[in-house]
Amino acid sequence: MRSLRSILVTGGAGFIGSSLVRHLLAVPQLEHLVVLDKLTYAGNPGNLIGPDQDPRLRFVEGDIGDAPLVVRLLGEVTATGVFHLAAESHVDRSIENSDDFILTNVYGTSRLLDACRTTGVPLLHCSTDEVYGSIDPPGKFTEDSPLQPGSAYSASKASADLLCLAARNTHGQDVVITRCTNNYGPRQHDEKFIPTLVRHAVQDLSLPIYGDGLQIRDWIHVDDHCRGMIAAFLRGPAGHVFNFGGHCERTNLGIARTILSIFGKPESLISSVPDRPGHDRRYAIDTTKAEHYFAWRPAQSFQSAFPSVVRELAANCTAESFASSPAAPDDDDGLHSRWAPPRPADPAP
Ligand code: NAD
Repeated sequence: MRSLRSILVTGGAGFIGSSLVRHLLAVPQLEHLVVLDKLTYAGNPGNLIGPDQDPRLRFVEGDIGDAPLVVRLLGEVTATGVFHLAAESHVDRSIENSDDFILTNVYGTSRLLDACRTTGVPLLHCSTDEVYGSIDPPGKFTEDSPLQPGSAYSASKASADLLCLAARNTHGQDVVITRCTNNYGPRQHDEKFIPTLVRHAVQDLSLPIYGDGLQIRDWIHVDDHCRGMIAAFLRGPAGHVFNFGGHCERTNLGIARTILSIFGKPESLISSVPDRPGHDRRYAIDTTKAEHYFAWRPAQSFQSAFPSVVRELAANCTAESFASSPAAPDDDDGLHSRWAPPRPADPAP
């Protein structure tokens, strides 16, 4: 069994990484936790306020593609494992330009694999259900389903998955892959689907929804995903893939309505914008394997956890928006107001 005694987390200043850091710091046998993060536009050191007071935590600003740096860090703490979450993660950005996605998600993962192989440190690679592509109801993808990514983001993640599996096959490297559905939770970046809708709802701006809004995603609380990754790291056989999902399929339109109802705002705020190219219609996965291996089940119910996450996101964005905005918007169309995000909301993780 692998050990959580000394762990390096890549991308720990991001949304999911900063939750994983909190879960790992709660493990009594953990002695060292190194966070390696490049602090791209998506990384926020403020996400680690609180955990940064723990003497076991060390933050290092750096790139996963810097293999000598990674090898040095792994050696300094005699690491027992790497949780690899660093990635370019926003689908819309990958449509505009995929260079950074290839650099970090593919090349960076390859360099990280090399560093782990050199040092003999096990690697958990955090991937996504988007690598399977879209599936019509009532189908669900298993870990053996073919990879049919529909965007440059998911293609880069699928490439990284294949590099991990090849490293296992070629070198016998100790790697485990997790593929999770869409996460909701605190500290998610402003540009993502739920934070965008929350910010607009709070400010009475229109909520931009791609196309007919009937795209389906399976939503999981980030804490359940983190529990899954830790279980897979501790007990997942090398070379295996594990799906994790929330068993909570919702349309994007349904998510927008739920957010509006939490704030008591009218559904007339919902506004359709042109669909994005190649938009996957439905993601759905079968999580039987993780349930069988780890007795893992999502513990958070959407009905009770989602409203509190929405209120927490609202409290943060209200404080930030009003502190930084020179004036209130003079129209109710968020897509044209200066308060609007640079692009429409993205339902991808
Ligand atoms: P995020 O964009 O919030 O965070 C990514 C972090 O990686 C940032 O802190 C960024 O600074 C860092 N980073 C980027 N490039 C780097 C590099 N070259 N070197 C070091 N650090 C770098 O992303 P997230 O939503 O927290 O996702 C984390 C991981 O989980 C990703 O691998 C993503 O593919 C996967 N995932 C996300 C979801 C989701 O719903 N958000 C679902 C399934 C899987």
